[in-house]
Amino acid sequence: MFISPVSGRQYEGQRVGTSILISDVTELKKAEGIRSEFTANVSHELKTPLTSIKGFTDMLSTGMVASPEDQKRFITMIGVEVDRLIDLINDILKLSELESVAIAQCEEHSDVLSVARETAALLAPAAQKAGVTLNVSGSAASVAVPQGRLKELLLNLMENGLKYNEPGGRVEVNAAARDGQAVICVSDTGIGIPDEAKNRVFERFYRVDKGRARKNGGTGLGLAIVKHIVQLYGGRVTLSSTVGKGSVFTITLPLAE
Ligand code: ADP
Repeated sequence: MFISPVSGRQYEGQRVGTSILISDVTELKKAEGIRSEFTANVSHELKTPLTSIKGFTDMLSTGMVASPEDQKRFITMIGVEVDRLIDLINDILKLSELESVAIAQCEEHSDVLSVARETAALLAPAAQKAGVTLNVSGSAASVAVPQGRLKELLLNLMENGLKYNEPGGRVEVNAAARDGQAVICVSDTGIGIPDEAKNRVFERFYRVDKGRARKNGGTGLGLAIVKHIVQLYGGRVTLSSTVGKGSVFTITLPLAE
């Protein structure tokens, strides 16, 4: 809290009173803290791939990598790091766009089931590569959310279901309309999330297992984006999970009128 004397009132040359301005800066300080933490996190996340790229290019340019096969391998690794940077920057831009509005009004209606089917089709090659079965079921449920944002939300959840899974596992997506709400469940038979991390996974850049998340190529922003999209359109996201058994993310969004 800041207390600042603003002015003294004068009467016949005598000082007779003082006005004081009291400002509660708690929220301001909190917002500043969140902002500087975010800047520190972003800088760190950008620095990691950039350091690798610098290392690879130094080795290539000084002739330390002699064989053409190794040179090719290094160039591929530079490409992987560049892709990581592009994904990160795209996710940061998405998040800042989502944060710039409090509540979104949308004229466009999207059917959750059809968007889930389209998203699953996009992910079919990734599912096959991971050896995980991806299945979509349920009934039509229309919501006042732009298709692009709904797809973004489902893509993040389904991709996580595939990434944090084992070969032979499953990801099931179910859509339904119930009590004025569209209910979307994305469940997987993957590694699960420990109790103490269940709330934190929606925070920006929080990862349960940093090594695994990095190997899987995630930006650490997927679930923060999911939460923002859901909140923007008046919905909720909940998570239940058991380590070693799997996770269920449930999203409710108001049905479109
Ligand atoms: P990332 O890009 O690291 O996947 P997310 O924001 O999507 O970032 O997820 C944050 C963290 O939550 C992940 O790093 C992972 O530890 C955990 N997580 C998310 N989804 C799942 C899931 N379906 N199963 C197990 N862990 C998950």
